[in-house]
Amino acid sequence: MSRGFGCIGVVTLCSLGFGQIDEEYSKKIREYTTEPFFLTDLVDTLPSSKTVPTPEKYLGYVVGAPNVLTYASKCADYLRELEKKSKRVKVVSLGRSEEGREMVVAIISDEANLENINRLRTYNHFLGDPRDLFNYKRGEKMASGSSPGSDPSDWSDRDRKADEIIDKALPFYWATGGMHAPESGPPEMIMELAYRLAVSETPMIKEIRKNSVVMLTPVLDVDGRERVVDLYRYRKANPDKPEIPLVYWGHYVAHDDNRDGMTLSLQLSKALTKTWLEYKPLVFHDLHESVPYLYISTGTGPYNAWVDPILIDEWHMLAYNEVNEMTKRGVPGVWTHGFYDGWSPSYGFMVANGHNGIGRFYETFSGGGADTGIRSSVSSSTRDWYRPNPPFPRVRWSIRNNVNVMQSALLTGMYKVAHERKTFMKNFYLKSKRSILKARAEGPAAYIFPADEKHPDQQAMLLKLLMAQGVEVHKLTRPTLLKEGTFLANSYVVRMDQPYSRMADMMLDQQYYNPNDPRSYDDTGWQFGPLFNVSTIRTNDTKVLDSAMELTTDFESVKGPGQGISARIALVHTWTSTQDEGWYRLALDQLGVNYKYVSVHELRDTADLRAKYDVILMPPGGGSAQSIVNGRPMVGDPMPWKATSEYPNLGGPDTSNDIRGGIELEGVLHLKKFVSEGGLLICVGNTCQVPIDYGIVNGVSVFEPADLNAPGGVYRTLNSAKDNPILANYGDELGAYFNMNSLVILQAGGGGRRGRGGGDNGRPSGRGSLTDPDIVQGRPPYTPKSLPGDVPESRNTNAPRLPSPKVLLRFADEDKLLMSGMIDHPDELAGKAALVQCQVGKGNVLLFSINPMWRMQTVGSYDLLFNAIRNFDQLNEKPVDKKG
Ligand SMILES: [Zn+2]
Repeated sequence: MSRGFGCIGVVTLCSLGFGQIDEEYSKKIREYTTEPFFLTDLVDTLPSSKTVPTPEKYLGYVVGAPNVLTYASKCADYLRELEKKSKRVKVVSLGRSEEGREMVVAIISDEANLENINRLRTYNHFLGDPRDLFNYKRGEKMASGSSPGSDPSDWSDRDRKADEIIDKALPFYWATGGMHAPESGPPEMIMELAYRLAVSETPMIKEIRKNSVVMLTPVLDVDGRERVVDLYRYRKANPDKPEIPLVYWGHYVAHDDNRDGMTLSLQLSKALTKTWLEYKPLVFHDLHESVPYLYISTGTGPYNAWVDPILIDEWHMLAYNEVNEMTKRGVPGVWTHGFYDGWSPSYGFMVANGHNGIGRFYETFSGGGADTGIRSSVSSSTRDWYRPNPPFPRVRWSIRNNVNVMQSALLTGMYKVAHERKTFMKNFYLKSKRSILKARAEGPAAYIFPADEKHPDQQAMLLKLLMAQGVEVHKLTRPTLLKEGTFLANSYVVRMDQPYSRMADMMLDQQYYNPNDPRSYDDTGWQFGPLFNVSTIRTNDTKVLDSAMELTTDFESVKGPGQGISARIALVHTWTSTQDEGWYRLALDQLGVNYKYVSVHELRDTADLRAKYDVILMPPGGGSAQSIVNGRPMVGDPMPWKATSEYPNLGGPDTSNDIRGGIELEGVLHLKKFVSEGGLLICVGNTCQVPIDYGIVNGVSVFEPADLNAPGGVYRTLNSAKDNPILANYGDELGAYFNMNSLVILQAGGGGRRGRGGGDNGRPSGRGSLTDPDIVQGRPPYTPKSLPGDVPESRNTNAPRLPSPKVLLRFADEDKLLMSGMIDHPDELAGKAALVQCQVGKGNVLLFSINPMWRMQTVGSYDLLFNAIRNFDQLNEKPVDKKG
């Protein structure tokens, strides 16, 4: 009974003495755990069942067994087996991935709760959209969500009805694994947790079942998971061969699949959001792996400034409770605060935070597949005010440790939410109510999308995206006078007296991130109006709420930019980084733009590129010019990336018998020839360095800032070439995405010198202001006078000159540069080139310092690419016709 002492003050959580134990399974749990302090009383045994198979009976091994990982499809099969054998489990499909694999969720609760699941969902809808509480007594129907209602006098009646519902409602708690394919533990753990929740009779589990509904998704990136399991099996079967790298995770992007929470362009984000809106689970908890041993999300701040402070309190309440329960049980290295900031709403768990639920995540220590061994973790093992019981610098670690630690803490969280269900459900109601009151309380009242928008397609795309987020869009039926001016009929209105006003506000508002705040974990700015290049007017005039308008949903026919392109496009990827180019593929696929997806080897192996392609597009991907040109080192045996009968999930979206090598010098020559013969080469960010460093272009250099800090935000660029076809339909300025950490700053002119200089470096230190002339002491000012017969000051040598690079977009002056996000030392970016066109022979190289296709957020910049592609053979000035 000595373990019982671990349960100080939480006796109800102990598992001893309730039902039969599966002794064999439990023995293996202990065997696979490397140290006693990585095991708790919550998971040190597994209950047995006469009817429901344990994971071991179904899979042939215990969850967390060394050297074995389970395919996503098998995880789902096991949950379906549980559904067959237990009335407490129901499995629902979430839909399919880009490559056609299924994502699932198991819904687990008491038999009675599962029978009443639709009624419980209806309660969630009433609490999540309190406007509909007016209709509550007229039958508990699903929320229709169409009745604006922020009149404060209504609320006493609604509050009373809400309290009646809260008495009967249950919190839903949704935990998800496998968002990040190489993070291998959570999918395994979820299978054991599902079994435990279905069969265990401990008071703790019974309370979770009785007073909550648990939703479990073992794998979100099902495509990536199958590749990872294949690679792990290959590694174990071929210990002497070099490891095959995980070239692709999901079909489009790697870890950025957790940055799609606003734009909902990947199948997994669409599935999460749709299912969240259908069930409204109070908690959405995404399970990740990285730092030791268990990090529980709260973050360093600055916290997202658009969510309700009640939510931030909830993050802390849950996190500190879990840290405390784990610490009491003697588990070291469980901590919160630190790690990430809590600012950007792009993460998957924002599906709950953006809709008045509670979004959170764990980072559990990773073991590298299912390996066991010594692992060091110096960076996160220091004692700090938020980490009084830190991880050890070195530890013997196993995947079973990962399963134990994560599962114990997760059960603690689920128990708290079930045990204090009324508090949490009341908070859910309050957050929803305060989102509706927002329009007349803190404001704004609404965002207006004017009817005379210059880019109606992009406007419609943004409104459609807001609707996918569950936001209602209205249309003015009459011209309406507000403080900001008169808005025409048919202008769109996003009212802030609706339950998901905060999601709309955080996407449409302007963001300011103070450079003195802790280092940002991701982008600091994402304001969708500028990034879509459409007008969004934030109004505090509450008159808009009483203006004549109707609900609208009519954006289905929108096609978006890129229609009617016939140029032959090659989209080039490296074999070293396929993440950022994935967003290009995704954008082009969704807009229906045809292209051929090729690797750098196509450039190496194709002598006549011009015969095959009109445009070669090289998206950013990390690495220097040298690493792109050289590629993976040509050492050892060929390294294939393709499916075999033994490893059917390898390969794809591109496939190769040997991924070693890069563009190579041959490829650079092929590229130069391609451009000289009239092709258009488009480079973005780091790939600009290939034509610059290898001399395909002249007069452009990469500027390396000394102090600039601009880690991903919206920056103002100025149109400096209005007559250029690439800028057709653009105005004087454009809000563009730039990130100094993943892109490069271009400098046109000045001889192509790398480093500082080449431009205006100010004046010598001396008397007066920045603009005063310098004065040398001890001599009068001097201005030379020219006499007849002198040679002219600038001599025309008649030497032929290369065409100069043209700066098409330039970063604005330092005081105007920042639109949304963060910038420090803006002087280093101000005035630099954002988009440069270099004529080379009959063709052109287009160099982007901004990223025109980033995370499906930069729709307003897409036409920079599409205009260039459409006009690839019309970009050069016609030579002056000399008639003799
Ligand atoms: Zn992760």
